[in-house]
Amino acid sequence: MEYVVIALVLLGVLVLGGLGLVVPRLRRRPELPPPPAPPTPVETAPAPVEVEPEAVPTAPELEVPEPTAGRLVRLRARLSRSQSVLGKGLLGLLSRDRLDDDVWDEVEESLITADVGVEATREIVERLRERTRVLGTRSPDELRALLTEELVAALEPELDRSLKSDGKPTIALVVGVNGSGKTTTCGKIARVLVADGRTVLLGAADTFRAAAADQLATWAGRVGAEVVRGPEGADPASVAFDAVRRGIETGVDTVLVDTAGRLQNKVGLMDELGKVKRVVEKQQPVDETLLVLDATTGQNGLEQARVFTEVVDVTGVVLTKLDGTAKGGIVIAVQRKLGIPVKLVGLGEGPDDLAPFEPRQFVDALLGTDA
Ligand code: GDP
Repeated sequence: MEYVVIALVLLGVLVLGGLGLVVPRLRRRPELPPPPAPPTPVETAPAPVEVEPEAVPTAPELEVPEPTAGRLVRLRARLSRSQSVLGKGLLGLLSRDRLDDDVWDEVEESLITADVGVEATREIVERLRERTRVLGTRSPDELRALLTEELVAALEPELDRSLKSDGKPTIALVVGVNGSGKTTTCGKIARVLVADGRTVLLGAADTFRAAAADQLATWAGRVGAEVVRGPEGADPASVAFDAVRRGIETGVDTVLVDTAGRLQNKVGLMDELGKVKRVVEKQQPVDETLLVLDATTGQNGLEQARVFTEVVDVTGVVLTKLDGTAKGGIVIAVQRKLGIPVKLVGLGEGPDDLAPFEPRQFVDALLGTDA
């Protein structure tokens, strides 16, 4: 045992001695030429440290669309151009001291300028003339009331303007030429339906315009609606078919299908629309076909509309851009020429600037007779 202790002590002395030889050598190293100093960064900002944002899955915030009731009243100021032509102009004429032939000619001219159309204008003027003569009406209030009645009557207030909702799901096609506001309007209609408590699925069957499906997806995402889309250039009818199938599967209230609208190839477009309808109807009948018309195209828009009505059974018109240079009389002309009710009107680019059309509120807004 003693030997072992002695051996360990000796070993310890040897190890420490060895270290004693090595350490001074290491300490002498600084005598070597110093390594080149690293370049000092002068006036350079520290490199930004890129931090990968942590991917925290968050549910997209859903918007609550405005209630549909009262939208037309809220947006009445947007009708300023129509108000000055149809409203102020006519009321000014009717408040002249003498209502002679010249005045009635001017009334007629005002209505035609406001896009009311020749036939409807003649009827309105004839009835107004007759009633003012028979009643001997002269006070501005009475004349305003008569004019209101005649304009409301010309807008056929008895027509059913509700969007159908009895299908399971309700199938609605949205048709119209490019640029009329068709895709935007699809998005806005989805919001109208959601605001009225219905669930919606959107079908992006305008597969020729690359941006259309993205546009529609954005609108849908904002209200939590699903979108069915196909690859760019896909067969619109097959996308429409898939959308309807999915809508049936998920049990939504309405499937809204956006369609392509290249009128330059009229025959092709019409064939395509006919096909979309036929293919969709292999599953379920189309309940509603809404034609989107740009109100600023005036009487020319009516020609476009006629082409559509020849191919698909249009059940309602959506008149967009009534807030621009459009003249309100186009609503009367469209309904008369097509025999189809105007169900909704577009009064701006905001998401809720689409209002259910109400003849009385519309005329009141034009003549400035509402509260
Ligand atoms: P589409 O080619 O028919 O699908 O047309 P879009 O939906 O892309 O719309 C074309 C343009 O019209 C867009 O800039 C829309 O914001 C605009 N637009 C649509 N409806 C209205 C409306 O009621 N008023 C105004 N001022 N612009 C509208």
